[in-house]
Amino acid sequence: MAASNPDTIAAIATPPGRGGVGILRVSGDLAPEIAQAVLGRMIPARHAHFGPFRDHDGAVLDSGLALYFPAPRSFTGEHVLELHAHGGPVLLDLLLRRVLGLGARLARPGEFSERAFLNDKIDLAQAEAIADLIDASTEQAARSAQRSLQGEFSRRVGNLVEALIQLRLYVEASIDFTDEDIDFLAEGQIAAQVAELLAALDAIRQTARQGCLLRDGMTVVIAGRPNAGKSSLLNLLAGREAAIVTAIAGTTRDTLREYIQIDGMPLHVVDTAGLRDSEDIVEREGIRRARAEIERADRVLLLIDDREPEQAGELLASLPQNLPVTRIHNKIDLTGQPAGLVEMPEGPVVYLSAKSGAGVGDLLRHLKAAMGYEADTEGVFIARRRHLDAIDRARTALDNAARQVDARALELLAEELREAQHALSEITGEFTSDDLLGRIFGSFCIGK
Ligand code: GDP
Ligand code: ZN
Repeated sequence: MAASNPDTIAAIATPPGRGGVGILRVSGDLAPEIAQAVLGRMIPARHAHFGPFRDHDGAVLDSGLALYFPAPRSFTGEHVLELHAHGGPVLLDLLLRRVLGLGARLARPGEFSERAFLNDKIDLAQAEAIADLIDASTEQAARSAQRSLQGEFSRRVGNLVEALIQLRLYVEASIDFTDEDIDFLAEGQIAAQVAELLAALDAIRQTARQGCLLRDGMTVVIAGRPNAGKSSLLNLLAGREAAIVTAIAGTTRDTLREYIQIDGMPLHVVDTAGLRDSEDIVEREGIRRARAEIERADRVLLLIDDREPEQAGELLASLPQNLPVTRIHNKIDLTGQPAGLVEMPEGPVVYLSAKSGAGVGDLLRHLKAAMGYEADTEGVFIARRRHLDAIDRARTALDNAARQVDARALELLAEELREAQHALSEITGEFTSDDLLGRIFGSFCIGK
């Protein structure tokens, strides 16, 4: 897949704004010439060199460290030059213009990582892990992204792909020997191997799901009648006064979102306008938005005033089917109900008081369990929805493969194995459309 790219690209790799150090990165064939021009001499490879950075007229723009990594032993696999200057935006801009004047062009978002991928320095899952490491919002997410970047996820996927290829070769080779089909399948070996692959795939899926939870978190929407205590619960979870709490029904007319963490699991909590029939135009718009948030939620927390438990039925009926719901009975400080989680035939119910905080620990533990999050993230690698989708497609193909074994349909079996292999290979980018690559790298920031 290695592609020689004619353009030399450049970008400021450090974040915009002022800082102690600012780094300009250059990658491509012109990097050595640019080093020569800016530094006045060629510098030794892979050694820190301190010296002046000069403009075209010889004026010193700044002095700092320069590093030169000749191809292919560099991040991108191309010649790479790094200039570490003082971190002033105007100064860095001058340096960038100097480098562009020497024939480089401005890098697109993610273009350094894209070149590293195209030059086989990293695979696609690793490239994505770079972005996820930088964007990690919890310590657990950062550690998991690092594991993916080191290639743990790719290795596990690679092992599975390898096993699939072996099985495929075996099956395809036997297609030509039709007489032996029956024996070959009857031995039960193929069925056992498919079952083994399914088990391995499920194990990867479980870890990837944890990694996906760490990366994206889940969205829970707090819904219920006005005055049930939705804003109070959001404030309690967020640990600050994010929503306005009043005794006047209909105060929260728009949706509000807060980001919290439970043992490193990111959770987006959305407070919504109370669900009721209203004549007020603004409130009705709020209720419309509340319903839209509910549609998109991973789970709804249906808040009910424990003094009016009979409200639950009607509210539950008004929610979309198939949406996981946790009922929460609030204000138990007023009713004397004991705090805690109760598993009811209709689903889980948490009794709590948003005022006193009683029962909130039970709610958080319940949410973690309901989302399948395990606090022990040792060995978890970061993953994206697209990886889970690929794993699911591979799983469907393997399920079908198992059926073809039973049906003794060798050719169809080979086809399903091929499907599974292709789906998994999308994770590391062996079979990935340019369109998808463009979307993945386009979401990176410039200089990455
Ligand atoms: P929302 O309309 O559902 O967002 O409800 P709010 O959070 O604004 O609360 C409505 C009223 O109920 C406020 O006066 C809150 O102080 C009160 N409230 C909320 N939770 C509790 C609770 O657990 N116990 C008691 N006693 N009052 C609560
Ligand atoms: Zn409210």
